[in-house]
Order: sequence, then structure tokens, then C-alpha cells
Amino acid sequence: MDHSTRRSFLKDLSLGTAAFSAAGRQDKPASMPGRPSSGTLEAQAAAPANIMAIAAHPGDAFFAMGAAVALTVRRGGQGVFLSLSLGEKGSSSIAPERYAALQREAAISAARRLGAQAEFLNYLDGEIAASEEAKLAVCDIIRRYKPNVVVTHWRGSWHKDHVACYDIVEDAVFYSGLPALTRQHAAHNVAKLYFADNWEDATGFAPDTYLDITPVFDVWREACALFPMWRGETGFRYDDYYSSLSVARGCLSGSAHAVALMSPPEQLVRHVQAL
Ligand SMILES: [Zn+2]
Repeated sequence: MDHSTRRSFLKDLSLGTAAFSAAGRQDKPASMPGRPSSGTLEAQAAAPANIMAIAAHPGDAFFAMGAAVALTVRRGGQGVFLSLSLGEKGSSSIAPERYAALQREAAISAARRLGAQAEFLNYLDGEIAASEEAKLAVCDIIRRYKPNVVVTHWRGSWHKDHVACYDIVEDAVFYSGLPALTRQHAAHNVAKLYFADNWEDATGFAPDTYLDITPVFDVWREACALFPMWRGETGFRYDDYYSSLSVARGCLSGSAHAVALMSPPEQLVRHVQAL
């Protein structure tokens, strides 16, 4: 942790403490607009979650985040996949226009297979910018669906679109929780933010949460198989990688299949009265 990060962490820690003190009990909403609050985690965990996966490209949404969405839906919650672009430049053999249509079709079918919904923002693949327009567009979709859990990219990525997505989502979650920011839909606080385990976002990725996805492993894999790239048609062996990764993560967490997630540091702060 560098000094600037440490400073921001300490700042977040003090803000988080203030938020918890103001909330008083865990069944009250977070009091810090736009910030996940560690004080609400237990109460949120008791209810079926409403989850949104926000990714730069449809493949990221379903391969790295889709099992968590599938599990949430299986448990009675709601799931939404938001892709900032269609990943239309991801094939060396299929023209972008045709590939965009295939990607959209696959995402809609895969979301349906998992009982979730698919949303798109149609930014250009490879050219996603962390603009105010994009942050507000994502804010609007968060406010419309009201997820209490958002999963997105970790910033430690070699892919510029993934880094932009991280930046967009961080600010969109913040904007969503600001009552004074007037948009079409009312303000909504996202209780938990997680970063997904993605082969392209591995720099500094340190998982702290393991989710047992065994009950949905088969249906999640079937949904992913609707994408040409999952089947290895764009080069990388996605099925081999993510299927075996779920076994490896499961080995670390005592289940057959698991996904590993990373939390923002302030989300891990605990408030206790005894150790
Ligand atoms: Zn991607």
C-alpha cells in the first residue's frame, strides 16, 4: 500500500466509522451517500440480493462475474448484466459489425438462460472512456435497477477498457447514492461493491471473499458456452481457464466450485465491541 493509498484508506476508515455511528443499527440504510457501508452488511446478507455485473465487454460480464449473478438469481434475487461495449473488435476472423450482433445475441440468450437481464451501453470496443457522460449513464442504470450488490472489474488490468470500466463504476456508484444529484430516477445506495477475478485484471488482485457457486456451475457454464469466444474461437481458452479456476478457488474454500472476489478496503472495515 503506498502512502497516497494509505491516506485515502484512513480517510475512508474515518468516514466509515462516522457512517456506522450515524446509522446506529445494521437494519438502517447507509448514511454516507454513494459509499458502501460496512455497517449494513449483515442485514443486506439476510435478504435476497439484487446484483448487477458491470463489465467492459459481454464476455467479462458472463465469464468472470456471471456465476455470482446466477447464484443470486437462484436464491431468489434479481440479476442484471450491463456491458459497456459489445466487444465487437474481439475477433480476428469476424467483422466487427457481424461480431457485435453475435455478442449481443449471445449476451441476451445467456442472461435469459440465467434468469437475468442484459443491458448495453454501446460504447466502442477498445475506446471506452471514463467520461462524465459514461459515469452518469451507468449511474442512471444503477438507479433504475437498484442493485444492492455491484460486481465489476479490478483496476489492475492491462486492458484499457477494463481500467476505464473500473473508474466509471466507482464514480457511478458514488453518483447513484447522492440524493442531491437529480436524475430521472431517485438516488440509490449500493451496499456492496466487489471486483471480479479476471485473467486480464490480475495485477494486484487479492481476493478476500469466496463464493460457493457449485449449485449453478453447470447452468453458468452452459450460458457462457453461448459465446463463440468461450469455445476458444478467438484464441484464449476461456472455458478451460474459468472452469478450472472455479475448481481451484473451490479447493481454497471447501467447495467443488467457487469464485473469488475482492472488496474495496473500506468494505472490509469491521466495527466490533469485543475481539
Ligand atoms: Zn474485456
